[in-house]
Amino acid sequence: MQLPKTVLELMDALACAGFEAWAVGGCVRDQALGLVPHDYDLCSSALPEQLQQVFADRSLVLAGVKHGTVGVVTEDGVVEITTFRREGDYADSRHPGWVQFVPTVQEDLARRDFTINAMAYCPQKGYADPFGGRGDLEQGILRAVGDPVRRFREDALRILRGIRFAARFRLEIEAHTWAAMLSEADGLDALARERVFEELCSLLVWADAPLLLKIRPILAKAIPELAPTMGFCQHSPHHAYDVFTHIAYVTQSVPPQPELRFAALLHDVGKPACFTRDETGRGHFYGHASVGAEMADKILQELRAPSDFRERVVWLIRHHMASDAPPEKTMARRALSRYGIQRMRQLMALQMADLAGKGVVEAEDRSTGLEEFSRLLEQVWQEEGQLSLKTLAVNGRDLMELGYLPGPRLGRTLDALLELVLSQEQPNEKQALLKKAKQWL
Ligand code: ATP
Ligand code: MG
Repeated sequence: MQLPKTVLELMDALACAGFEAWAVGGCVRDQALGLVPHDYDLCSSALPEQLQQVFADRSLVLAGVKHGTVGVVTEDGVVEITTFRREGDYADSRHPGWVQFVPTVQEDLARRDFTINAMAYCPQKGYADPFGGRGDLEQGILRAVGDPVRRFREDALRILRGIRFAARFRLEIEAHTWAAMLSEADGLDALARERVFEELCSLLVWADAPLLLKIRPILAKAIPELAPTMGFCQHSPHHAYDVFTHIAYVTQSVPPQPELRFAALLHDVGKPACFTRDETGRGHFYGHASVGAEMADKILQELRAPSDFRERVVWLIRHHMASDAPPEKTMARRALSRYGIQRMRQLMALQMADLAGKGVVEAEDRSTGLEEFSRLLEQVWQEEGQLSLKTLAVNGRDLMELGYLPGPRLGRTLDALLELVLSQEQPNEKQALLKKAKQWL
């Protein structure tokens, strides 16, 4: 295994002091997959005090020292070195309830979650892989270390982590591991919400539709509001799938950004509550976008999502229904002025995925309209940028010089002037706009 010079130096220093030092976990797994690890974690026979002695002349990060982890600052960032340890239940916290230092790397590997994460490498001794992680990787299998039921009881977050690894590395979840994920999913309730949120974000970024469909019972545990969408028949010629199957396809189709993936996952969460059928028996979901936006707001608050993340997801859901109006430049200019290019790009991606995920042919015609609108947005953005009150050629001070008094009327006048520019009734030029404002006065 290739290790960076900065990491090898630390391992050498430990070896010279008579301790074992192994690269462990994600970095060993990633290299076995031919990927470049994003960081290198080490584990060692040295106790935390001994680690601090060996690296007495280095700057250290000691935040995790109680759990046996010492961070050593190197040119490539902080390398964490953890004393070989066993650990107890994670309860709901981010850290195990207790840790106990152990003498061998094998015992340390036994506390790790999945076989593919329970491999270590040491330049002097080669690989330690007591649970067959390498073989599992080669066969494409995700398998818990030890008894999966016990392992998921110790820390239910491992269920979501496991699904994330399965999604990211396209692994099949081994049968006992999968059965335990299902039987222990109740444990998700006891976890700190922000841990669940973070794990859901990374899982969604990697998951495809078949995986999302497979993990329905687990998603329904993490986000109970999704349960009614599962198997909910839409009774509509516009939809080939039940609500959740549609959600799964839309989620797979949006670009892999956590916000967009979350918005896709929740975009139709309001449908079951809004369902009605007309005299012909056809299903409708009037108002589901705003009902869904309210629900998503609550769901993300409960998951302790950062408020800007929540706000953007809720906005996307509220606006996810594509307009049937023929795409026009004025509409694009107005949308850009109001919401900015970033949000509009995300919204277009969501609307296109929403159409594609209906599983019906007519959606193709409508997507042409959306593509055209996207093109117009980019064109206006390129040519004119974002018109807004900030870029309007007149401001409040100009209007007050004309004789307007400070107050709501001044604000309304500025809005009306912006509207004239957006609809291209007036150019964005000071004289022309002042003339208009004078007339209104
Ligand atoms: P990533 O590429 O996402 O960082 P990783 O495998 O390095 O993947 P980390 O969360 O950085 O994941 O954890 C490092 C290692 O610690 C894991 O490979 C695994 O061996 C162990 N580990 C992490 N979290 C747990 C857990 N909840 N239960 C058991 N072992 C864990
Ligand atoms: Mg890692």
